Amino acid sequence: MSILSHHLLDIGAKFKRKLPAQPCLLCGAASQVGLCCDACTAELPRLTEARCPICALPTLAGSVCGECLLQPPPFDHTVAAFSYNFPLDKLIQALKFHDRLVLVDYLADAIVARVDTRPDHLVALPLHPTRLRERGFNQSLLLARRISHRLDIPLLSDACERVRNTPPQSSLPWKERDKNMRHAFVCKPDIDVRGKHIAIVDDVMTTGASIGELARALKLAGAREVSAWVVARTLPHDH
Ligand SMILES: [Zn+2]
Ligand SMILES: [Zn+2]
Repeated sequence: MSILSHHLLDIGAKFKRKLPAQPCLLCGAASQVGLCCDACTAELPRLTEARCPICALPTLAGSVCGECLLQPPPFDHTVAAFSYNFPLDKLIQALKFHDRLVLVDYLADAIVARVDTRPDHLVALPLHPTRLRERGFNQSLLLARRISHRLDIPLLSDACERVRNTPPQSSLPWKERDKNMRHAFVCKPDIDVRGKHIAIVDDVMTTGASIGELARALKLAGAREVSAWVVARTLPHDH
């Protein structure tokens, strides 16, 4: 490395140290390193390596889980950075319900760090237009945009629509969530996904019913393979 670039790195390091500390989003303590302080970042519930490659639930030695063996979901593979537990749940809620859009890059980058395949396209889980109007933004689309930019994978931002405004999944018992989502999505006829590998980006996978239904719609439209890329996976025993 040249002397000049060493010098520039030095300046970079000094500049970084002089950045004002910001309050950690989780505990409020001064953080020099970004949105969350080192202690809170260390506390985030990372998913273990040993998990079902299809649905990301923890399994012994990372084998396919019993549920996926018996009844494989419409998607083929799941990448999840965290389990949906404290304090990660607080970050997701801050993003969705308190418009903390600064979290988008932080959470999207956590997905990027886990990605191990290279799909042809990304698709964000669409919100119904009514819900979109209420919230003002689709957090899944913001995450997908960042990931598309980081990995240089094209985002099909208008490929699919949510055609049914279903009750929020969180308001329903787990058993009814599949039924609630049925036929909730359609792919637009002018979008060609035939033979392609598509990754669906969403914030949280709970039962997998929404992502499963979108995966089904994408496969009906000809997609060869569908992956689910989510910030967090809800583990069943948390309920
Ligand atoms: Zn903190
Ligand atoms: Zn599984």
